[in-house]
Amino acid sequence: MNRNELKHLSFEFFPPKSPRGKTNLLRTADRLEVFKPNFFSVTHGAGGSAREGTLETVRLLRREGHSAVPHITCGSESLDNLAQLLTIYADEGVEELVVLRGDRSPDDTDQPTLRYASDLVGWIREKMGNRFKLNVACYPEMHPEAESISADITNLKTKVDAGADRCVSQYFFNSDAYSSFLASCQAAGIQQPVIPGIMPISNVTKLIEFSNKCGAEIPRWLLKQLQAREGDSDVLRRFAAEVVASLCERLFHDDAPGLHIYTLNLARPTQAVLGRLFVG
Ligand code: FAD
Repeated sequence: MNRNELKHLSFEFFPPKSPRGKTNLLRTADRLEVFKPNFFSVTHGAGGSAREGTLETVRLLRREGHSAVPHITCGSESLDNLAQLLTIYADEGVEELVVLRGDRSPDDTDQPTLRYASDLVGWIREKMGNRFKLNVACYPEMHPEAESISADITNLKTKVDAGADRCVSQYFFNSDAYSSFLASCQAAGIQQPVIPGIMPISNVTKLIEFSNKCGAEIPRWLLKQLQAREGDSDVLRRFAAEVVASLCERLFHDDAPGLHIYTLNLARPTQAVLGRLFVG
């Protein structure tokens, strides 16, 4: 297929901590820019990482001519801080945000003013009108804290009705999870595009760790095939890229309007997947 056939392509980064990490990130962004992404998004405090750095990374990317979209979370920020941040992003010329509740630690007993991402979406619309295009998260395999998949979809509907423009999904490896989720979203009246989240595979141990945390299932056959190749990184990389590229092909067949790729700040695993999908 051709890149232009995809309505949406975005790449997710996390804020690098060291000067070397920043240099590497810019190199990664340059390499991935050839795929003409709609934007590079930058996480905010994901997986317990520092909250500082999102704004700085967005500025760094924008300075180098890349389109950068910050993630914004409601977990632990005061409303004043959030309002200030929105003004800064607007002044910087940022056009879109990824709006999230954020990861919660089990010790967090305080009840924040904005409890769910839908509250934050509504609050941003109230404060800033349509200044930003808003992306929200969704979970084809269900958010781990949700009561049921139908409750999760009802909550997603509340979130899009609060003013979201696009849904971006958690990653998954089973294409049936996406097609079934899309059908449920359509039945619930969710008309916003649902962009599947894709995790290229580079490190099996880290993948297992992430997946346990965020509730993404690694099918048994895939886990066993990956583990069988762990001793030879070239063989593992090739196999992983084939698996993820063929997942993407099945998703396009099921009408996925694009991809959101969790790059983990690395170019090669993403290049290996997209190189297999796009011609020319
Ligand atoms: P919500 O939409 O608020 O949902 C959280 C849970 O509450 C769900 O189980 C939902 O069903 C339930 N719920 C929602 N509304 C209601 C309601 N009214 N009543 C009862 N239950 C309700 N985390 C970070 O910390 N930083 C990041 O940068 C980050 N980026 C991400 C990017 C993507 C694309 C994705 C998919 C996730 C990202 N995360 C990030 C992880 C995310 O913050 C966690 O998954 C978090 O646990 C939920 O966030 P949410 O915005 O989906 O929350």
